Amino acid sequence: MQFGAHESISGGVFNAITRGQTATCDTIQIFNKSNNQWRAKKLTQEEIDKYLARIEDTGVTVACSHSSYLINIGSPDDALGEKSRNSLQEEVERCNRLEIPNLVFHPGSHVGSGEEPGMDRVADRCNRVLADVKDNTVALCLETTAGQGSNLGYTFEQIAYMLDRIEDKDHVGVCLDTCHIFAAGYPIIDPKDYKKTMKTFNDVIGIDKLKIIHVNDSKTEFGSKKDRHEHIGEGHIGLDGFRNFVNDRRLKKVPFILETPKEDDLEEDVENLKKLRSLVNGK
Ligand SMILES: [Zn+2]
Ligand SMILES: [Zn+2]
Repeated sequence: MQFGAHESISGGVFNAITRGQTATCDTIQIFNKSNNQWRAKKLTQEEIDKYLARIEDTGVTVACSHSSYLINIGSPDDALGEKSRNSLQEEVERCNRLEIPNLVFHPGSHVGSGEEPGMDRVADRCNRVLADVKDNTVALCLETTAGQGSNLGYTFEQIAYMLDRIEDKDHVGVCLDTCHIFAAGYPIIDPKDYKKTMKTFNDVIGIDKLKIIHVNDSKTEFGSKKDRHEHIGEGHIGLDGFRNFVNDRRLKKVPFILETPKEDDLEEDVENLKKLRSLVNGK
């Protein structure tokens, strides 16, 4: 199985790989640019070569990139929606150059314009991005959300609605965030509840669409609709919930990525990964 964490690209993308190694990651998630700015510094070939060499040297792979938090391709505001689409496209292009297979993004929010029109805009803009990037090898992965505010994607049906309307089926997928689905009201702690939730996921979306799992405990209680990550086993999900995920045979090939708080020494990542790995049966 592949366990890892989101690692910072501060100082250059190659540094994220080294951080991943320090944190005992098999694989990592990165931002491919600064996550709170629209503008992106151009990636030089030298930088990319150094990064690819470090992947080669360490054996730490990059499972996915997470898109900027500014992007809202569900926006009813044309200027912001189009700016977001351009930015998402630029990120897909950067992921292609960095040989990252998946770009995870939050579907966005409808900002009071209604869920269906919002989801239609998300699908339309994904279609345009996927049509406009030449020789694309990156899958756009819609992330399940907690349902805060007017955020879209807090039910499996909503994710399926958008997926259905994205034409390039080879370059689209889903990222399941444990904290988000728990906060959105999907029970995952009791093994029977977990089974039921994953059956619903499979029936509505399809487990074959699942490319990435964000493995975060939740600071807030079940159904809170709040997105607050906590260390593994220290939140409202607890170790029992994570035991279900790491022992689900259907998820053996899906990378598990932590997005939990940490200091520069990455000790928290080491601890959280140790906990996750220890939950795998037979260990
Ligand atoms: Zn996430
Ligand atoms: Zn979150």
